[in-house]
Amino acid sequence: MSELRFEDVTIKYGIGRSAMTAVEDVNLTVPEGSVVGVVGESGSGKSTLARAAVGLVPLSAGRITVAGRPVPHRGPRPLQMVFQDPYSSLDPRMTLGESIAEIMPSGMSRRDRAAEVSRLMKLVHLDPERAGSYPARLSGGQRQRVAIARALAGRPRVLIADEITSSLDVLIQGAILNLIRELQAELGLSMLFISHNLAVVRYVAARVAVMRDGHLVEEGPTAEVLGDPRDEYTRELLAAIPRPVHFTP
Ligand code: ADP
Ligand code: MG
Repeated sequence: MSELRFEDVTIKYGIGRSAMTAVEDVNLTVPEGSVVGVVGESGSGKSTLARAAVGLVPLSAGRITVAGRPVPHRGPRPLQMVFQDPYSSLDPRMTLGESIAEIMPSGMSRRDRAAEVSRLMKLVHLDPERAGSYPARLSGGQRQRVAIARALAGRPRVLIADEITSSLDVLIQGAILNLIRELQAELGLSMLFISHNLAVVRYVAARVAVMRDGHLVEEGPTAEVLGDPRDEYTRELLAAIPRPVHFTP
């Protein structure tokens, strides 16, 4: 996969005097093959950053590059995103296989698509035999696995995950986080992993960035930032974790 860079990124909603600055002057790098976490309270601008990366909101200033090149506005997307709500992100009228195959590069034969669906389902630990079934009977965790397989089907250079475990119960969260760690080791995922939950980010991210009111207030190796935060706000976020959460497979 590839490096993702935010350079002096500012994002505003609205125009003129009523404009609201959601993200200001953010500089952040996701090195090739690594998971960078973004933490911060609700409203701090995390999702805005994610949406800007995949082209869902325009930048007011700065630029976002993948492998050194600005993210193109059209054509094949170098980034794919996995969203928070696995119930609204899968089309109930499409089979799992159709959902996964939908964003595969065009020009693949039907047989190649089917083989790729199988491969991706195995990769996320879903039974490929279920490719012809519909999402209705899947649990939230299984749906998130499909959403991850679908995102990977687009052959992205970078994956963006925005609160992908936040709507799941704790045990299922652990299983999805283990999957992310596994995929990172196997595929060398470059990933921006957003969560309001520090314990979750600590589990998957090598580096972590802390957002507050649209600003990036601290960034560095996860163990350093969370072990010995320099910023007062990061200390407050850490103090807000009720107790250590341990995820076991
Ligand atoms: P987070 O993901 O950290 O909770 P968001 O990026 O969703 O934060 O929001 C950052 C700020 O931008 C918040 O103040 C939010 O109210 C505002 N905001 C988000 N989306 C929109 C929008 N579509 N229009 C106007 N303001 C928005
Ligand atoms: Mg958000």
